[in-house]
Amino acid sequence: MPKFQAPRGTRDLLPAERSAFLRLEGIARDLATRYGYQPIETPLFEQSEVFERGVGAVTDVVEKELFRVQAGRGDQERERWALRPEPTAGLVRAYVQHGMQTLPQPVKLTLTGPMFRYDRPQAGRYRQFWQFDVEALGDPGPGIDAEIIELGSRFYATAGLTGVEVQLNSIGDGACRPAYIETLRAYFGRYRADLPELERARLETAPLRLLDSKDERMQPLIAAAPTITEHLCPACDAHFAGVRAHLEAVGITPRPAPRLVRGLDYYTRTAFEFHRPGAAGQQQALGGGGRYDGLVELLGGRPTPGIGFGLGLDRVILALAEQGAEPVAEAHPSVVVVGADPEDTVARLRVATMLRAGGLSARADLAARRLGKQLEGAARDGAHFAVICGDELAHDQVQLKDLQAGTQRRVELADLVRDIQRAEAQHRHGSVEA
Ligand code: AMP
Repeated sequence: MPKFQAPRGTRDLLPAERSAFLRLEGIARDLATRYGYQPIETPLFEQSEVFERGVGAVTDVVEKELFRVQAGRGDQERERWALRPEPTAGLVRAYVQHGMQTLPQPVKLTLTGPMFRYDRPQAGRYRQFWQFDVEALGDPGPGIDAEIIELGSRFYATAGLTGVEVQLNSIGDGACRPAYIETLRAYFGRYRADLPELERARLETAPLRLLDSKDERMQPLIAAAPTITEHLCPACDAHFAGVRAHLEAVGITPRPAPRLVRGLDYYTRTAFEFHRPGAAGQQQALGGGGRYDGLVELLGGRPTPGIGFGLGLDRVILALAEQGAEPVAEAHPSVVVVGADPEDTVARLRVATMLRAGGLSARADLAARRLGKQLEGAARDGAHFAVICGDELAHDQVQLKDLQAGTQRRVELADLVRDIQRAEAQHRHGSVEA
């Protein structure tokens, strides 16, 4: 085994997997643009406090999973930063920092990139993973809530994933949640002695958290717990009904998920997740999001509503493989430039450079080997054409060989790009050039 390995819980995305990711990133970029989300990039690390406040100090993500960055020598500089475990807190920090509240609202932003959580690695759970994220700030909903959920559904459908289900809940707001939390505390309090240690502590600090406890022992208690949807105030109830009505209008029937509270503290009202029932690793969501009307204020801005989602790309790749989807084809050059004189790599590089400058994808065979070997390499590459540099080069001509049709003809160097483009177009239309 080599001495150096990628750190536990991380992995190298080798070309086949990276190509699959790039395809998803392309779909994400295209959809986000069409739905009016502007690209943004925030640093991969922030002051830890951004996450402690923005995600919530009493969450798994902050309590157990935050990747703190040990930088600087002095004590006061230690643990000041953390790698982002999710994108929303950093993005909202940027919204406040750059005064985006003065822009026409909503401000709709998107980013796709790596997130970091110091979790126990297992299938579909990594310490570095990728998310496609969108956030809309400044719109209280409920129309935008449905629009965002529909965008997420469309992402999965476009990626080719079938049977993705939307799970939907409302977790109330400052008007109704406190009373519900007390109801929940009283309920779980009756079983205090049976609660696992972590849950017993959370009964005091964050009873809502008990609902998304992964502890097996908690599951029967959670299943019988009172639900928030029975305790919503009229305004939250109306908002929740509005989200469902808008979803219905765009053909989405969510599955009610009255115990879905999501792991993060900042959510209000709408909470949702995307699942693929029946798939292995069923417990793991493909993506999720929600409304966070208190977050901007928590991070120092004026009260501003917001909603967004984070869709895990790693899990989409796994789900596509489980579903038996065709792997993404690796890119190959359409032209390979070979030469009769094994030593004349200068000519091959010059011609390939000319082809690339003309917009083609080309590889020059730069090994000093026989023409036959070079042509074998071109066929192995899956190239459509080989350009053969020979004696004609003295007259600014080369041989253009169509590797699929098996034909070959002499072409002026000046016409080469145009001729190849024409022949490629003919290939695309099904008629191989004669
Ligand atoms: P969360 O904010 O925890 O709901 O995460 C949103 C999405 O990111 C999840 O639905 C997963 O698809 C993905 N995700 C979260 N944590 C991980 C992880 N450790 N490894 C891979 N994907 C993850």
